[in-house]
Amino acid sequence: MIPREKIDEIIERVSIVEVISGYLPLKKRGANYVALCPFHAEKTPSFTVNEDKKLFYCFGCHTGGSVITFLMRQEGLGFTDAVRTLARRYGIELKEYRSPENRQREELFKALLLSEHFFCGMLKSREGLRAREYLKARGLTEDVIEQFRIGYAPAGAERLCEYLRKNGINPATFERTGFIRKRDRGHYSIFVNRIIFPIKDVRGRTVGFGGRVLDGGEPKYLNSSDSEVFKKGSILYGLWQAKESIRKKDRALVVEGYFDLISLHMAGITEAVATMGTALTQNHIRTLRSYTTRIYTLFDGDEAGRKAALRGLATFLDEEVIPRVVLIDGTDPDEFVRKNGASALLKKVEQGVELFDFYLAELKKHHPTDSAEGKMRYLKEVLPYLKTLRDPVRREHYASQVAFVLGVSPQAVMDAMKEKAPRKEKKERRPAFDLTELTILKVVLRNPHLYDTRVEEALERFKDPFLKGVAEVVKKGFNGRTVREVLSLAELTEDDRIKAFITETVLKEEDGFIEKPERMLQDSVDKIMRRDIMRPSLNPSVIELVKRLEESGREEMAKEILQRLGIRKEQLERGH
Ligand SMILES: [Zn+2]
Repeated sequence: MIPREKIDEIIERVSIVEVISGYLPLKKRGANYVALCPFHAEKTPSFTVNEDKKLFYCFGCHTGGSVITFLMRQEGLGFTDAVRTLARRYGIELKEYRSPENRQREELFKALLLSEHFFCGMLKSREGLRAREYLKARGLTEDVIEQFRIGYAPAGAERLCEYLRKNGINPATFERTGFIRKRDRGHYSIFVNRIIFPIKDVRGRTVGFGGRVLDGGEPKYLNSSDSEVFKKGSILYGLWQAKESIRKKDRALVVEGYFDLISLHMAGITEAVATMGTALTQNHIRTLRSYTTRIYTLFDGDEAGRKAALRGLATFLDEEVIPRVVLIDGTDPDEFVRKNGASALLKKVEQGVELFDFYLAELKKHHPTDSAEGKMRYLKEVLPYLKTLRDPVRREHYASQVAFVLGVSPQAVMDAMKEKAPRKEKKERRPAFDLTELTILKVVLRNPHLYDTRVEEALERFKDPFLKGVAEVVKKGFNGRTVREVLSLAELTEDDRIKAFITETVLKEEDGFIEKPERMLQDSVDKIMRRDIMRPSLNPSVIELVKRLEESGREEMAKEILQRLGIRKEQLERGH
């Protein structure tokens, strides 16, 4: 690990304008420099660089961060490599420190990478012959096999473990990989006689594997279990290979299977990713959103496929980005593209409709609207979904579409929405974030000198799930001291949403907002403190109980009670 101070020093000493100029023609505009964004397609520049704040931010695709982030994105480097590159270029010496936790994580990544080597080697060996023939029969070329590091798990479940042990991996790490299990006599891999697809995170590190049987065994597909580095619900297969294309083409195609994805890539449709057999989740959408807002999900056009397309409806209406549905009749994308070619598939993609349009069309099929009764049924079905649409413009658009289908006025539909759930309506008008917490973050990010221990205390009490994450990063960054600039804050997290929030807040000019920052901060911090103190759980009997437990030497239990109630020790001593 590179110490925090070094990262600060690099960001401070390196001219972000100079580095980015090496890649893009920057033009001066006011205090900033602008250019056409290299990370998404655009005609007018929204990519902004600010030398004083040492940050860049794109107001179009919300990519932003320090010079380190830029280099990572532009050159496809990992964090450490980007830092090393800059340090070398600017003659800054690095002393790296590795904590025990870090070392354990590194060992886990090493075990996963070694496993990948093992599987790849096996595919090329004599034992891998049948697997190679199978891949060839499915149309995979040597190049694509190499590009996706496809491998083969041979018979003999313990052989991988032997290989790892020989290469210096501690058996204690085995079970943390998500695909090696313990049995009375030793460890064994869950992958036996399968084609292996290594799954990589966005930084290109191998985090898990998927395996397809070679003979008729069950299950046909098997994936690593979730682990500390592999979360099926948020990782997309192939994103590492696809991310630059997704940015450049400003769209992502989502398929379900490994072979679907690989066929698409071979056909030149390199902006495709796969969900590994599961449905698309909100986390997937959030991951993709930092690359593009145009997301197309491909489904089989049969009844089952149509049902699958609608499965996520309720979940996605609450998001800013709603995926589009592309139906492929009677087959999967893999077969379709091999039979009909890339342009036929892309034509289908262009015909993709927004999920809600698709839903309305399906609904109409099931509830013909040629009678008054049919109309009522249709309206009853659609209303709850209509109400969940977060974006008011979208909501109105679809309300008038429903009105058109029913042959009534748009106002009638809007009225019906209000009638059914007045409480929900009220809730929707509330801002997406907790306003008090948002204010504190905005003021502190733009006026770092105002940060003090009271602000820190307030940050610790944040409740908004997203802002809480931002607060943790801010707290880590300030670390009890005030800093001149926020500099490397955005680099303290791997979460792109938090990164974007921080850089956007620092760079966005909102005149009038910060007229009296001290006052605003003070008021908001007070509000947070009051909110906590008014919690009923801080009643005298709790204080009494905790005191007694502590006096009788049961500090652990006392601590746990406080934690469960969300009370801080200092608060208790103050007696309120
Ligand atoms: Zn951009």
